[in-house]
Amino acid sequence: MEKRVFGNTGVAVPVIGQGTWQMEDDDAEGAIRALRAGLDLGLTHVDTAELYGRGEVEEALVAKALEGRRDEVFLVSKVMPSNATLKGSVTACERSLKRLRTDHLDCYLLHWPGSHPLEGTVRAFEQLVKDGKIRSWGVSNFGVEELEEVLALAGPGRIACNQVLYHLEERAIEHAVVPWCEARGVAVVAYSPFGNGHFPSPDSAGGRVLAAIARAHGATPYQVALQFLVRRPSLFAIPKASDVAHVRDNAKAASLKLTVEELARIDAAFPRGDEPDSLPVI
Ligand code: NAP
Repeated sequence: MEKRVFGNTGVAVPVIGQGTWQMEDDDAEGAIRALRAGLDLGLTHVDTAELYGRGEVEEALVAKALEGRRDEVFLVSKVMPSNATLKGSVTACERSLKRLRTDHLDCYLLHWPGSHPLEGTVRAFEQLVKDGKIRSWGVSNFGVEELEEVLALAGPGRIACNQVLYHLEERAIEHAVVPWCEARGVAVVAYSPFGNGHFPSPDSAGGRVLAAIARAHGATPYQVALQFLVRRPSLFAIPKASDVAHVRDNAKAASLKLTVEELARIDAAFPRGDEPDSLPVI
């Protein structure tokens, strides 16, 4: 599994990880099996949040999947904006640690920009780092203006990542967010890389391009899409898969080598469009 240094953390993290949103709706044993199969294949970046199943995903799925394997994993969770005061962020993190049955997170994110002043959240994150409860911190769903605000509060080299919506039919982050992050050593993590299950149909023009490229490599269109999304060194992706066959598929995407010409064909088939006024979120 190809790894890359994750933002400013100095830690090598697999380019493809595992998401866990809405896993509480899946068969629990199957989801845990899928997560563990992913770990076996090197998909050790595991993304969760206090929001997911209101804590159930952390407690009943991720904690169980990680039993005896915590040291293999780059574990990420997120605080909800409504909890993200100085005190609220610290206690939310402590609750997540308890549910996850671990003593630290590898990265802790603010789930999206909220109404509590960012100063309190940043101070809480730095306190959590000092106390050894998190190794690094980042943000999610942040546009450039909001990133600038965090940078001004935290100083350079502190924001590990920005986790954002990024799939073939939603490439808005390429306009400004990716360049901003790359210039400052901030990892960009693509969430919903398969459009939260709305993948380009095989009958569509774009779907046919993916299928043709996939055929040339003995791969699947999903693998081609994932490899396109992590084609730059700042990029990581966290597909969610509760089906072990999907997990295997996703793990193989990391080693797929697309040619410059193939990347250009995908680029043309899924144009990035104009820069939107605000960052799209799911
Ligand atoms: P996604 O990864 O875009 O899509 C998941 C869907 O794709 C599931 O139905 C899954 O099926 C299917 N799938 C996975 N691998 C496949 C493959 N190789 N072939 C065919 N189908 C495949 O959806 P997502 O859950 O929205 O996004 C991924 C993760 O990003 C989330 O789980 C979460 O951790 C994170 N996220 C973060 C935010 C945020 O605001 N920060 C927002 C949304 C998501 P099965 O489950 O049946 O395998």
